[in-house]
Amino acid sequence: MVSKRDQTQILIMSTSKPEITKRQQQLLDELKRCTDELSGQELHRQLHNGEKAMGLTTVYRNLQQLVKQGLIRSRHLPNGEVLYAPVERDIHHLTCVSCGETTQLQGCPVKTMEMPKKASQKFELLFHTLEYFGLCQNCSQELNAG
Ligand SMILES: [Zn+2]
Ligand SMILES: [Zn+2]
Repeated sequence: MVSKRDQTQILIMSTSKPEITKRQQQLLDELKRCTDELSGQELHRQLHNGEKAMGLTTVYRNLQQLVKQGLIRSRHLPNGEVLYAPVERDIHHLTCVSCGETTQLQGCPVKTMEMPKKASQKFELLFHTLEYFGLCQNCSQELNAG
């Protein structure tokens, strides 16, 4: 059971504007500037030349914070890599489990789906994820040939 007091605190947390640090803002700006998703490594590299440079651990720690605040989304690839993008960007992918090649999907199949009313009243939706995994044409041909 959640007590009345706890419920109020949760409400305050979800309605107040998230406070982000200068570094988090820099990472967010960088992700917004780039049309593609970026990994922590790539962000680290992009910020490397300039006064915005920060260590890789710092990059990951701040990315984690941004995810928690619902400002960016993360996507895990089969090879363990994590890619980040601004939360408002609604893009889905087809990913090959064999070579990791990623293709963007046109449109969003989830957009037309509705969350059950009861759930949506108690939950402020920030973003959703949807991914398709399979074999790309090359890998599938290779498998069939072998
Ligand atoms: Zn493949
Ligand atoms: Zn979508």
